[in-house]
Amino acid sequence: MRSNRRTFCAVTILSAVLSGPAWAQSVKAPIQITADLSDAPRMLFHSEVDLPVSAGPLTLTTPKWLPGHHRANGPVDNITGVVFTANGQPLAWRRDDVDLYQFHVTIPSGVSTLHAHLDCIVLGTVTQKTAVLDWETLMLYPANTPVRDISIQPSVIVPAGWGVGTALTPTGDGAYPVPAAGSTVHFAVTNVEQLQDSPILTGQYFHEFVLAPEISPKHFIDVVADVPEDSNLRPQVLAEFANLVREADALYRSHHYNHYHFLLDLTDFTTAEIGLEHGQSSEEGVSEKAFSDEGHQLPNADFLPHEFTHSWNGKYRRPLYLYQADFVTPQQGALLWVYEGMTQYFGTILAARSGLLSPAQCRDILAMVAANLDYTPGRAWRTTGDTAVASSILRDGKPAWSNWKRGQDYYTEGEILWLDADTLIRKTTNNQKSLDDFARIFLGKGGNTGPLIDTYNFDEVVRDLNEVMPYDWATFLHDRIDKINLHADLAGIERGGYKLAYADKPNPSEASLSGKDAAYYTGVDEHGVNAWYSVGLLASGDANILDVRWNGPADEAKIVPGSKIIAVNGQAYSSDLLRAAIRDAKGKSEPIHLIVQLDNSVSTTDIDYHGGERYPLLERVEGTLAYLDDITKPLASSQPAQSKSTADKK
Ligand SMILES: [Zn+2]
Repeated sequence: MRSNRRTFCAVTILSAVLSGPAWAQSVKAPIQITADLSDAPRMLFHSEVDLPVSAGPLTLTTPKWLPGHHRANGPVDNITGVVFTANGQPLAWRRDDVDLYQFHVTIPSGVSTLHAHLDCIVLGTVTQKTAVLDWETLMLYPANTPVRDISIQPSVIVPAGWGVGTALTPTGDGAYPVPAAGSTVHFAVTNVEQLQDSPILTGQYFHEFVLAPEISPKHFIDVVADVPEDSNLRPQVLAEFANLVREADALYRSHHYNHYHFLLDLTDFTTAEIGLEHGQSSEEGVSEKAFSDEGHQLPNADFLPHEFTHSWNGKYRRPLYLYQADFVTPQQGALLWVYEGMTQYFGTILAARSGLLSPAQCRDILAMVAANLDYTPGRAWRTTGDTAVASSILRDGKPAWSNWKRGQDYYTEGEILWLDADTLIRKTTNNQKSLDDFARIFLGKGGNTGPLIDTYNFDEVVRDLNEVMPYDWATFLHDRIDKINLHADLAGIERGGYKLAYADKPNPSEASLSGKDAAYYTGVDEHGVNAWYSVGLLASGDANILDVRWNGPADEAKIVPGSKIIAVNGQAYSSDLLRAAIRDAKGKSEPIHLIVQLDNSVSTTDIDYHGGERYPLLERVEGTLAYLDDITKPLASSQPAQSKSTADKK
């Protein structure tokens, strides 16, 4: 990989301790790793790893703290079938008593290559037709060594006829990206840090499209799906993804990759949606119909723009202590409101600029985001900064009382904070400068580079903001991040020419959300009831109360998250009935009567609420300048896309 400068500074020194006399790669060949995904449909990956060694004790490890996950969740618990051999003879191993990710072996004299066989039970990222290989499921490498100093050559075997999408560089002249059945695809030598950052997406129904070919370096989107028609994306969506590449190019004006691959996995059969950033690619695992029509696309519109933005903000520029030179040292999240918050902001803005969202949809989404933050009572005890510091213990957020606990609010708090900063710069400079200029300085540091990591601290953020517009940015940021603020930061919306308001009907975007993805913005799927801003509860379509707003009317009525609503005003529950009851109680004195069940107890309860239905929207403030409209305007022009696929090979 191209590496025209080194910017790892102090963090390199922290981990410069070798793993012992048995590993000294500087004079030896790269580790060879072959991932065999032939059994992916059976939820099994296999790997064969050959490590250059010399005699003596050796400690090998698998990754623990994975970049982008913001917590220690390396999949060591699912790594199984571990067998070491040396010169064809089995070699005993012992797990470390404290660090359970480490394996100890003693290399006999006369052995120069240690062979390891690993299996991994893969849950949640494979189906009968698709698989995602994150290399941490199969990697073993010397412990206590900076991972970028360990060279490794990867290869992969995929099920016959499946296509391969990855940012890794293929070598040899075999068929690619749909390899011949049973063949092994070899990739160029890289290092462990980059390999972990270079997943493989593979699938039977595979399409690879080139996006915006006039832009250098090259951009691809690799798509797999469980049924053939889904992987062949709509021309309209492809055109919008191509626009995304153009808009990001126009916004950031630098690249920190040699080529870029969006890895889009369209399936309803994996357990979790995933959006995971990498320097030269991104994993986007979304529902099968996520981009099939406008209603499904809306909650997914910022998915690719967000992960793509991370190539600049998160992968290239990374908070100093969030970067660690190994995958063992805990990663510190204090600046995640930059890493994730600014990515959330530019992700939404790029979605609008590229046409994935209309300007009106963008405003509707901002309304939903800002209202949700404004109605998060937990902001009375916990700062936004604390949600970032505590990120690793907030990743598995369950809905019950999450509004009192607060979740990973640094994403959306960051989004409206950066909107505040953007409109402040635009207004103060009479639209001559904007946060786009900050992005070009801060994320474009050093111009075009290959896949590098360049760390920053709070002071550099302030310094670069000051370069765009002199201001007391340190106070601006500390006030919003480190202080208790009972209400959300709505200054950006208001300076943008709009105000957050509430209506008795969902805004057009909220009304058009369909499928389970609707919950991304409302907390409930399309069949549920979003009564968050009225009685203060979320109910699923099958009557389960997902959460109750702390100090809201439903909380006053002592309703418990996890309860099931049996009846509303004497009639068996339905979503429509609950909405009608909230509407009908408006301006009257009679409360809303509910019968609820929790465990095996049934009780009656009354919600004394008379304000009617309430849903957020942004209203234009006439007579003010609409900076928000300027922000969502495209910077680049649009062109069509090209493709090659498994279908083309038949
Ligand atoms: Zn992110």
